[in-house]
Amino acid sequence: MAQIRLDRSALHHNFRLIHQRSQGRFAAVLKDNAYGHGLTLIAQELARLGVERAVVRNRHEALQIASLFPWILVLADHPRADGFHYAINELATLRHAPRRSRVQLKIDTGMHRNGLIPEELEQAFKLVKERGLLLTGVFTHFRSADELGSDLFWQRERWRQVKERLFKLIARYHLPPPTFHSANSAALFRAGIDPGELARVGIALYGYIEYPPSLPAPALKPVLSLWARRIATRHLDPGSRIGYGGVFEAQEAMVVSTYDVGYADGLFRSMRQCAAGAILGRMSMDSLVLAGRALEVPIITDAKRIAHDLGTISYEVLVKLAPTLPRSFSQTPSI
Ligand SMILES: *Cc1c(COP(=O)(O)O)cnc(C)c1O
Repeated sequence: MAQIRLDRSALHHNFRLIHQRSQGRFAAVLKDNAYGHGLTLIAQELARLGVERAVVRNRHEALQIASLFPWILVLADHPRADGFHYAINELATLRHAPRRSRVQLKIDTGMHRNGLIPEELEQAFKLVKERGLLLTGVFTHFRSADELGSDLFWQRERWRQVKERLFKLIARYHLPPPTFHSANSAALFRAGIDPGELARVGIALYGYIEYPPSLPAPALKPVLSLWARRIATRHLDPGSRIGYGGVFEAQEAMVVSTYDVGYADGLFRSMRQCAAGAILGRMSMDSLVLAGRALEVPIITDAKRIAHDLGTISYEVLVKLAPTLPRSFSQTPSI
C-alpha cells in the first residue's frame, strides 16, 4: 500500500534551526493535518521536543491534540470557554463569544483578508471588558514575507505602530499583557522577531521555505516522503500505448509497472514527473505507471520540486495528500 514516511531526524533538525532563530519563542502551526503530515504524529513528536504552543484551523483539530500542548490557538472557529485560544477575525465575533472565552485579536495590517482594522481596536477592548472575555493575544499576519522587496518591512513598521496603540489600550483597560505574534516561517528567517513576540511557524518545520532564489534560505530538510508499491508489471512492444487516452506510446520494447497511488491520494493528474522518474501516460485515480519493476518507488521526496513543475507551492502539494494514506515515522532517513 502507498504510504507516507516521516523522517524524524529531519523534523528534529528543522526544529533546532527554528528554535535557534526564535530563541525558543515559537508556536508550531499544525493546521490542516499538520500540512498533510499527520496531525497527531507531528504533534506528539513536537511535544516530546518541548514545544508548548500549537496553532490549528478549527476546534476539531484542537481537540485531537488537546492533551499535548498547554496553549492551542484556533484560527477560524467560534470561540468557546474551553481553554483553547480563539482568533478573532472580525469585531462581530466578540459580541457572541461566551464569557471567559480566551480570545486573540487578529489585526489587519495590510493583508486585507481577516482581522480587525486598527480603528476598531478601541471598540474591541470595550467588548472584551463588557463581555468578560480573556484577551490572551494580539497578532497580525504578513502578506509578502517570502517575496522580494520592502513590503514585509513596511508592514512590520505598521504593526509596530499598532502595538504602541495596543500598549496604551491595555494599560487603560487594566488588562494583563497579552502575547504578541506576527512572523510566519518566511518572516522569522528573513527578519527575525521583535523582542517579546512569538513566531508562528508552519512550513519551515516540515522542511520548506518559499523564498525567491536571491534570498538566502535556511538549510531545512523535507520531513515527508511518499512511497508507492507495485501492483503489476508488463512487457510492452514498441507502439503500445499506456493508460487513458493512450497518450504515451512505447518507442521500443520496455518493462513497465503500475503503482498504487493516484490522484485520489492527493497527487495532481497533471504531474509528469515523480521522484522515481517520468510518469508514463495519464495518471489514474488510484494508480500510475513507471518504467521498470521495482517493488517500491519514491513518488514525492521534495514537494517543492513537484510544486515547481505544477506551477504551485510546496504547501499545496503537501496539504492535498489524502488523510487516508498511512503515515509513520521511519527512524532512519528514507532517502
Ligand atoms: C498558516 C499560517 C501561518 C504559518 O505560515 P508558514 O508560512 O507555514 O510558516 C502563520 N500564521 C497564520 C495566521 C497562518 O494562517
